Amino acid sequence: MSIAVNPPPSVRSFRSPTAGTPRVTMVLRPTVSTTAAAVPILTKLQHECATPLPLLRNIAADMAADMRAGLSVDGGGELKMILSYVDSLPTGHERGLFYALDLGGTNFRVLRTQLGGRDERVIATEFEQVSIPQDLMSGTSEELFDFIASALARFVKKEGGKFVLPNGRSRETGFTFSFPVNQTSIDSGILIKWTKGFSVSGTPGKDIVACLNEAMGRQGLDMRVSALVNDTVATLAGARYWDGDVMVAVILGTGTNACYVESVDAIPKLQGHKSSSRKTIINTEWGAFSNGLPLTEYDKEMDAESINPGEQLFEKTISGMYLGEIVRRVLVRMAETGSLFGNYVPKKLQTPFALGTPNISSMQQDTSEDLEAVGSILYEATGVDSNLDARKMVVEVCDTIAKRGGRLAGAGIVGILQKMEEDSKGVVFGKRMVVAMDGALYEHYPQYKKYLKNVVAELLGPELSSHVVIEHSKDGSGIGAALLAATNSIYEH
Ligand code: ADP
Ligand code: MG
Repeated sequence: MSIAVNPPPSVRSFRSPTAGTPRVTMVLRPTVSTTAAAVPILTKLQHECATPLPLLRNIAADMAADMRAGLSVDGGGELKMILSYVDSLPTGHERGLFYALDLGGTNFRVLRTQLGGRDERVIATEFEQVSIPQDLMSGTSEELFDFIASALARFVKKEGGKFVLPNGRSRETGFTFSFPVNQTSIDSGILIKWTKGFSVSGTPGKDIVACLNEAMGRQGLDMRVSALVNDTVATLAGARYWDGDVMVAVILGTGTNACYVESVDAIPKLQGHKSSSRKTIINTEWGAFSNGLPLTEYDKEMDAESINPGEQLFEKTISGMYLGEIVRRVLVRMAETGSLFGNYVPKKLQTPFALGTPNISSMQQDTSEDLEAVGSILYEATGVDSNLDARKMVVEVCDTIAKRGGRLAGAGIVGILQKMEEDSKGVVFGKRMVVAMDGALYEHYPQYKKYLKNVVAELLGPELSSHVVIEHSKDGSGIGAALLAATNSIYEH
């Protein structure tokens, strides 16, 4: 890393949104920044974030052990290993009209699909996205579900054309619900608590399928929920419809989770659960894993200040909500003790979550000689003014955090594959096996994706990894929930 001596004053132009020419040109004070004092901070960070193969092998083995502990008894390990009650996956033979409803954040999506069996497959799909008014996120349960059911009813009214409901049948929907639920059957589940900014009164402790069914009844809507699933399970189902070798699904978005196809004989805690296929999908909730993670002081501080200290440590190390924030914390340290951006530290840089994971991903895509995009993203997001050496240093920090995240996520995947293989030889190794991936972090952060894929190959070795396909399954979860409504239909199929 070279050291900048007497950097030139930086010039920044502000453009008005309408005019094409710069409105104001301002000469900022010279940035007397030097990267020299920040170098040891970077070196220490890289050292602490290192993920050599022996460490990752241990992570994979611990993940497998934790999975086994969670399968033997509830609360047996950090991973909850939740039963999804999804015992039959789509085959491609599904026929008919099915709906899906996805509630997981500030928006919900409604979707309908007309399935035409083996030959015609997906004849048509339509969807709509509706944003949830802020006041309903902290209102009553009835208000929220009435709002959802009325939007659904309006969507159903527009049904026509290629979408046909056979005479005498009720409509069926899959319900993707990405909040913690104690699932009690494929079509019922008790809400444990709201998360992600929701604080709706009256729902925790209640069956959310019953809440939705009642609201649909109040709207006079002839529809029933036939499958309640989380987004990871829906992704697996959506990908499996097109490819029978899909055995695992992983979400890397705001948070992270993974699910996989398990043999019922390998689930000691499962008592009296009948599955004609002898297989069922297990939702691992792997974000809770924590054994042996290479954590830095920045991770520990972020965790301590979070709403759930000590929890979801794997998620906090690998998922989209946190990667940008970890980078920001490192940059604050470099600015404060290393004067990376001159001798003042803007308020914005000190604001938690000012730097998002999309920001650090965009900065890593900058291939220009003077790293102009890095400079403007840094300025926009954190208010810092940077010279070329500082920008290079920032990109190194982003890469260090993305590399650790991608490699740990890859080790987690290998842990799942090893667990599956240990229990039933030949189930994943020695034949084609697909891991379906979804989530904007995986989709839009090429370096992260590359680190993840490469480490899976490194850990498995050339022979085994040649059979493992890690594939992006875009938006599989929407159609996946509709497909699970089909496989769990009360009608003959
Ligand atoms: P969710 O997980 O909330 O269902 P997404 O799969 O869309 O939704 O993931 C959103 C998250 O993905 C964001 O919080 C952000 O951290 C991350 N993300 C979005 N765009 C990018 C990007 N261009 N590069 C890296 N990460 C991104
Ligand atoms: Mg999602």
